[in-house]
Amino acid sequence: MTFSEDQFSALAASVTGAVFRRGDKGLGAEVAGQNTTVVHDPDVVIGAATEADVAAAVRFAASVGMPVHVLATGHGTYAPVTDGVLITTSRLTELSIDADARIAHIGAGNRWSAVVAAAAEHGLAPITGASGNVGVIGYTLGGGLGPLARTYGFSSDYARGFRVVISTGEVVSATADENPDLFWALRGGKGGFGVVTSIDVALVPLTTFCGGALFYDAPHIEAVLSLWAAFTETAPDEATTSVAIMRFPPLDVIPEPLRGKTAISLRYAYIGDLDEGERLFQPFRDVAPSFLGRVGEMPAAAVSMIHNDPTDPVPIWDRGMLLDRIDGGFVETFLDLFGPGHDVPIVSAEVRHLGGATRVDVPEGSAVGGRDGAFAFIMIGAPDPSLFESVLPRVADGVTARLAEWISPSTTINYTGDLSGPGAYEAAWPPATFTRLAAIRSLYDPPTLFPYPPISPGERGAQAFPHGEWRGSDSTPGRL
Ligand SMILES: Cc1cc2nc3c(=O)[nH]c(=O)nc-3n(C[C@H](O)[C@H](O)[C@H](O)COP(=O)(O)OP(=O)(O)OC[C@H]3O[C@@H](n4cnc5c(N)ncnc54)[C@H](O)[C@@H]3O)c2cc1C
Repeated sequence: MTFSEDQFSALAASVTGAVFRRGDKGLGAEVAGQNTTVVHDPDVVIGAATEADVAAAVRFAASVGMPVHVLATGHGTYAPVTDGVLITTSRLTELSIDADARIAHIGAGNRWSAVVAAAAEHGLAPITGASGNVGVIGYTLGGGLGPLARTYGFSSDYARGFRVVISTGEVVSATADENPDLFWALRGGKGGFGVVTSIDVALVPLTTFCGGALFYDAPHIEAVLSLWAAFTETAPDEATTSVAIMRFPPLDVIPEPLRGKTAISLRYAYIGDLDEGERLFQPFRDVAPSFLGRVGEMPAAAVSMIHNDPTDPVPIWDRGMLLDRIDGGFVETFLDLFGPGHDVPIVSAEVRHLGGATRVDVPEGSAVGGRDGAFAFIMIGAPDPSLFESVLPRVADGVTARLAEWISPSTTINYTGDLSGPGAYEAAWPPATFTRLAAIRSLYDPPTLFPYPPISPGERGAQAFPHGEWRGSDSTPGRL
């Protein structure tokens, strides 16, 4: 597909934000995201500054027959966009809090950190993810499981309304009352519906909680992991916890206490009485000495400090899945795969405890996949792009085979990581949900202007299907 000079000039004249064509100076910086291995090279980039800019970009793409892609922070981008129109949302930073109604109105360019800070001024908190650096919309479209998930559930359960530019260029609202099918889809169905320009989310009253993280050195990994696995059997819904066996390279950029170490990080958040939170955590203080970190009273605004995810752009490779259960056999196998003394190019092998509120759908239903998952498991590969093509996928396949008896057949889209593996996209929702999502995409995007999954056509080969051609399947999706 191509466009004329006149068509491009008309677009540029109608957009208040930035407009680039392939090869233009500044395009590279405009499309740079969190994952430094992904270098986008679309035909046209629109740095939208207003909702009208988004609509103009969509209408332009429709008129010249080009696909539309969206880039917020690049935390969830694994393959480069090589064609069509790429809309960047970073300038859409409107953000307001209605403290009485406990609602945040959030433009598509916001990261969670901005919303957390704005809500905290009113003694309120959004149900955010682990990293404040992740984009609110991309995250929430995928459901979203954060450090308070067992108490509050999926973040998309708190979405109260979306404004979306659909394939006609019209702006539509999606709420429980207006376009409820689209509202259902946007709460967990991820992409392929349009460009979300803003979202309203419900906030919860929260000023402090008992939480934080402790790091334990290699000799204590087994004891901490075993205690944690036992803890999850009886943990109340007020407690959300996770563990990660982490390998820190002996590089100067790594802070001294962690440099060159293999350690386990135990993350904890208890919502409720602070003394009860402390009491529940005491066994983790007694089991072994920790060498770094703190657990205690935390301001709600510091929730993203629990996981302490990196904020600087890095090469990202990860793969995740849900687990049905864990037990002694799981702990043994996990240690055999990731424990000290093993040479494995996985810098973080993390297991998060789910359940509690994550199992409860919103009354009107939503498209989130993986509500029945008991744990989420995610592997982050060594940030060496030369390993991304075949070494890390092979290692992850081997790990998956070893953990097969604990892996759930269902998963949730924010946790799949790279979607290029066979069946990974299809497995992110129950078959009936996947089929309904495809039908809703066809309804709001008949020309398939918003390709989904967002991977270049050639890369998915036979798996790339326009919305209308998907026929669905009654079989249990095969995972990995
Ligand atoms: C360090 C790190 C920590 C993370 N922590 C968590 C976590 O705790 N819990 C969790 O559930 N997930 C987590 N994730 C996964 C994350 O939620 C997803 O990768 C999410 O897609 C990132 O969204 P983004 O907008 O920041 O990224 P982007 O890569 O910019 O966008 C990701 C996808 O969302 C779509 N999208 C973004 N904005 C819009 C829009 N306005 N309209 C339509 N589509 C849009 C894009 O098209 C793209 O396909 C984490 C990821 C990283 C790298």
